[in-house]
Amino acid sequence: MTPDAQRPVRVVQLGGLMPFVRQWLTERYAAPARADLADPTGVDVAVVGGGAKVGPAEMDALPDLRAIVNFGVGHDNIDVPEATRRGVVVSNTPHVLTDAVADLAAVLVVDVLRGVTAADRFVRSGAWARGEKMPLARDVRGAVVGVLGLGRIGTAAAARLEAFGAEVHYHSRSAKDVAWTYHPSPVELARASDVLVVLTPGGAGTERLVDADVLDALGADGYLVNVARGSVVDEDALLAALEQGRIAGAGLDVFADEPHVPVALLQRDDVVLLPHVGSATTQTREAMGRLVLDNVDAFLERGELVTPVG
Ligand code: NAP
Repeated sequence: MTPDAQRPVRVVQLGGLMPFVRQWLTERYAAPARADLADPTGVDVAVVGGGAKVGPAEMDALPDLRAIVNFGVGHDNIDVPEATRRGVVVSNTPHVLTDAVADLAAVLVVDVLRGVTAADRFVRSGAWARGEKMPLARDVRGAVVGVLGLGRIGTAAAARLEAFGAEVHYHSRSAKDVAWTYHPSPVELARASDVLVVLTPGGAGTERLVDADVLDALGADGYLVNVARGSVVDEDALLAALEQGRIAGAGLDVFADEPHVPVALLQRDDVVLLPHVGSATTQTREAMGRLVLDNVDAFLERGELVTPVG
């Protein structure tokens, strides 16, 4: 009998966790992947990665579940009201990824205005060598950047863009104690913005918050940057707005049906497309992994979470 076989299984891994997190969970808690869990009784903690959905069916399948520990700050993959109804607590990984995601949001704003990745494609295609000219880009200094969702990441991204000389405006459900200009709706924010940066949570409360009306308010010279969740933007409306020249371009780290990106987007040169890499640095992912372990430890030792949701 292996030592692990003698330990009661209290933790299970759900979804696509990174290999080093899997290893940590296996070494520390002998936590199997869901598919390898022979008997779900006695499992009171589920560690969730890769945006795996956890709804009533997944909770039913773990009858002794008491805590869901999510690898990621966004927790729209978890039915939190249902968990709460069952007395199951939920944690996420706020703060430790704020800088990395804010960096990426700011970089996407700079990229859509300056055409950095478009210029890279221009060189690689041989267009430069053939004597063709890149169209002139736009200054970041003086551009109005509208942050939709001025939370931890939105605030950090706004500070970075202010350092570039951009003028920051924002909309959240409530005005914040900041010097930046507040707008009472997404449409009004978009109307004032050269670049609209989406940094709200996903989930039912923000589904298609950026719709055709918001895109039209952004206008033919405006850019959309989405680093939040694909669900927050009406992707069909975005494609139509790009195809009809009703907005100037977009920078997207997230999509409605990841990892599938609409072919029509793949074929466009006025969009920057990233594979959901907002927090994808070694340092940040390790910090997220450590916070996941801290939450599991705290729950197993004291019945508390370090970073509970809500
Ligand atoms: P946060 O601190 O909770 O900020 C979210 C902000 O959105 C809050 O300030 C909230 O402000 C605002 N908000 C919520 N619902 C809104 C609505 N209906 N309309 C307008 N504003 C709304 O969260 P965070 O740590 O900054 O993370 C934000 C999101 O970024 C995550 O939930 C996740 O979806 C996304 N994210 C993406 C990546 C990536 O790899 N691309 C990585 C990490 C996170 P009010 O409460 O005042 O409205």
